[in-house]
Amino acid sequence: MNDSSQHAAPDKPAPAAAPETAKAHGAEALPELVRFDKVTKSFGAGPEARIAIQDVSFEVRDLPDKGELVSVVGPSGCGKSTVLRIIAGLRPHHPPTSGEARVFGRAIEKPGADRGMVDQKYSLMPHLTVLENIAFGLKLRGVEAAERRARAREWAGKVGLEGTEEKYPSELSGGMQQRVSIAATLILGAKILLMDEPFGALDPKIRMQMQELLVQLWKEQQSTVFIVTHSVEEAIYLGDRVLRMAARPGRLVEILEVPRPDVPPEVMRKKPWFNRATQELLHRLETDAPASGELSGIEQWRES
Ligand code: ADP
Ligand code: MG
Repeated sequence: MNDSSQHAAPDKPAPAAAPETAKAHGAEALPELVRFDKVTKSFGAGPEARIAIQDVSFEVRDLPDKGELVSVVGPSGCGKSTVLRIIAGLRPHHPPTSGEARVFGRAIEKPGADRGMVDQKYSLMPHLTVLENIAFGLKLRGVEAAERRARAREWAGKVGLEGTEEKYPSELSGGMQQRVSIAATLILGAKILLMDEPFGALDPKIRMQMQELLVQLWKEQQSTVFIVTHSVEEAIYLGDRVLRMAARPGRLVEILEVPRPDVPPEVMRKKPWFNRATQELLHRLETDAPASGELSGIEQWRES
């Protein structure tokens, strides 16, 4: 849709500028959206205790008129779901064992309408049609039938499900079920959207379509999105920032700033800087590298 020039910074950053994430966003004065301060979660007690995450600290500020897309990567068991579920206020991950987790400037107490979660298991209701599944949250909120049907129909269209409105989940492909699940969450307009490996079960082509769709909807809604993914390409493509985690104990190793997606994924994949950056992130993940700073290639993107 857009060419990459739209994305290029008008002034090149000074070559010696340090890649400091929060400062690069000029974020100090902006309201706080999510903040983790040395958050630790362990399950069980005594010798059986297992640390899910240890001393995780980061913050996401509310950028005016545009939300941030934060991708979370790391090996299995490093605590990615734990981080998301603490933000969502979902037990047993919430509350943390120590440290402080806040949303909108307040300690997280429980799930709320300000946060929406899409997880791996699409959790659709099998006895409800596509339209009824999409409208379900509106029903719980007391929106009257005609309005919720109209809004659900609109969302079915946005995620490319027109024509399937009266079908049941079992009649749909995995990719379509995932679209229903995403529409059912996005329709509620939560300011913070939490997605736990949402595209894991999809084949590569549908996955790319879903990535593009997510980017488009995210720009429209200006929400802040956290997306856990196993794919480094997806993390770099989607992210404004990438949280890289490591296991044993689960911890946040570094926060990488990456370009906003400005072209479809299949175009991005052909760019040399994108390939260099994904290779390097993959390498850092595989070797559990300590924080190593900006990904090589990203600075070339800025200068191109
Ligand atoms: P990831 O999503 O990165 O794969 P999780 O956040 O699911 O990792 O898990 C992090 C660690 O916490 C793992 O060691 C896992 O076994 C443990 N864990 C997660 N959920 C629970 C639970 N409900 N009870 C006990 N241990 C758990
Ligand atoms: Mg997980």
